[in-house]
Amino acid sequence: MKCSKCKKQMRYAKAMDFNGYKISGWKCLCGEAYYEPEEAQRILLLNKLKKEAIKAKLGRIKSNLILRLPIDVEHALGLEQGEEVLISVEQNAIKVVPA
Ligand SMILES: [Zn+2]
Repeated sequence: MKCSKCKKQMRYAKAMDFNGYKISGWKCLCGEAYYEPEEAQRILLLNKLKKEAIKAKLGRIKSNLILRLPIDVEHALGLEQGEEVLISVEQNAIKVVPA
């Protein structure tokens, strides 16, 4: 990839700092940086979601309560259908962590 500022060849980097996370992208000696767009978008979404509480409704299928996760949460955490998560119960809260 060529730098849009100085037209030199940019160097691929695996762990560039981006909003407190490490993502891959391209670096140029002139200081210009280009981040992997999908990864950058995911981090921006994650940072946005961290700032707000998300309201969701519990449903029921037979004897189980169902929590439907908004699509933004799915994308921000890279979750997939069929994937296993760990649920831990704290005081009056539930924590769901990708396994
Ligand atoms: Zn450059």
